[in-house]
Amino acid sequence: MSDLFTQDFRTAPYWWDHVPRPDLPDTPLPQKVDVVIIGSGYTGLSAALQTARGGRDTLVLDAEEAGFGCSTRNGGQISTSIKPGFDALARRHGSERAFCILKEGHNSLAWVADFIAAERIDCDFRVCGRFHAAHSPAQYEMLARQVQAQPEVLKVDAHVVPRAEQRHELGTDAYFGGVVYAQHASVDPGLFHQGMLDRAREAGATIIPHCPAINIRREGAGFLVETPKGTVAAANVVIATNGYTGRMTPWLQRRVIPIGSYIIATEPLRRDVMARLMPKNRIVSDTRKVVYYYRASPDGQRILFGGRISPNETDPRNSGPLLHTELVRLFPELAGTRISHSWCGFIAYTFDELAHVGQHDGLFYAMGYCGSGVGMAGYLGMRIGQQVLGRKQGETAFDGLSFPTRPFYRGNPWFLAPAIRYYRWRDRIS
Ligand SMILES: Cc1cc2nc3c(=O)[nH]c(=O)nc-3n(C[C@H](O)[C@H](O)[C@H](O)COP(=O)(O)OP(=O)(O)OC[C@H]3O[C@@H](n4cnc5c(N)ncnc54)[C@H](O)[C@@H]3O)c2cc1C
Repeated sequence: MSDLFTQDFRTAPYWWDHVPRPDLPDTPLPQKVDVVIIGSGYTGLSAALQTARGGRDTLVLDAEEAGFGCSTRNGGQISTSIKPGFDALARRHGSERAFCILKEGHNSLAWVADFIAAERIDCDFRVCGRFHAAHSPAQYEMLARQVQAQPEVLKVDAHVVPRAEQRHELGTDAYFGGVVYAQHASVDPGLFHQGMLDRAREAGATIIPHCPAINIRREGAGFLVETPKGTVAAANVVIATNGYTGRMTPWLQRRVIPIGSYIIATEPLRRDVMARLMPKNRIVSDTRKVVYYYRASPDGQRILFGGRISPNETDPRNSGPLLHTELVRLFPELAGTRISHSWCGFIAYTFDELAHVGQHDGLFYAMGYCGSGVGMAGYLGMRIGQQVLGRKQGETAFDGLSFPTRPFYRGNPWFLAPAIRYYRWRDRIS
């Protein structure tokens, strides 16, 4: 084994050490329910919470263990989640819709804080602020301009940090300054997921893990969902499979691009080292298109460092050392630090870089968070659950947007490796 790995090195998420995958009762598949939800991440569970509390008999299926997907694998960074800026959205959808879409990002950030408080979920949620670091002088200038030119109605609490003051935020000289978004937050994603799972079960939802939905057929006004454990009839079905969307739903599979995202945890570091490298204990990201994101672990002892490290999908044993190299490039004093965990998960990108929510052929869906789903997935899961209940409050600014695909794209993103190489080259020269 590589010298970079600790004795107890694991290729499972760091979060699973203290929140192991839940040991759920072995429940037989019911013959009939009101709502079947496919996928037990934030999207599926948040939808389930709505439908179960709304009095609908709700069943959540997962192909693997509950929370096997990104919802227990992510970095726990929470932002406003919308990738395109106002101008790009206004060009595509008009300025009124652009405003409403960006507002949904704000809504999702506010929703997480309110939800965690209202549901009393103990998950190390902190409004710690994000330091968004510029990887070039030009990017720094652009960030500074964006902060100054924020439209009044969409203004967020943000301030520019010049390079000379950067060490107050982060113990590195590798960046050219950055911006602090004061309202962005962090969470322990494993505990957050467990809290949602507990609330959904308390509300009466049944969760059956290791039970993939393999086919969905129409039956009268409803659907039949086939699984290896039998077939269940449901009036409504919600697809909440995001980066794990497969052949069962070909229309959706053609619209999401599964991309591996990789992350490592270091072994515990000395307190003085952590204080020097992350003096304000913020979440961090950078302006590269092939972004790196990192933070301290909730106990303040480790650095969790993530990014898209390889153009092709790779084993976490291979991605770990590559991420370590980047980590050391930023923080040379970590050269001798070992890695205790290295893992990955599949996020869902979309061709317009927006999440999508709605109905197709009678199936409800919410997905495509483009790597920023910790807040947005739960928020849109809630909205799609409300749509199933037929409630007006379920309406979103994403409703009715066309969900684009590309000719010949069937869910196998052959273009990813060249695209990532291109973006990495652009990051290097900018
Ligand atoms: C390494 C990594 C770091 C990330 N960091 C961040 C971050 O810091 N901030 C942020 O905002 N976002 C981050 N994300 C993204 C975020 O985690 C996701 O956007 C979010 O968790 C998506 O939730 P979800 O419920 O839609 O999907 P998931 O949690 O992925 O759940 C989908 C589930 O569907 C199940 N499934 C698929 N097909 C079937 C089937 N046929 N039958 C039954 N079940 C099925 C899968 O097994 C899976 O459990 C990160 C992702 C990764 C991988």
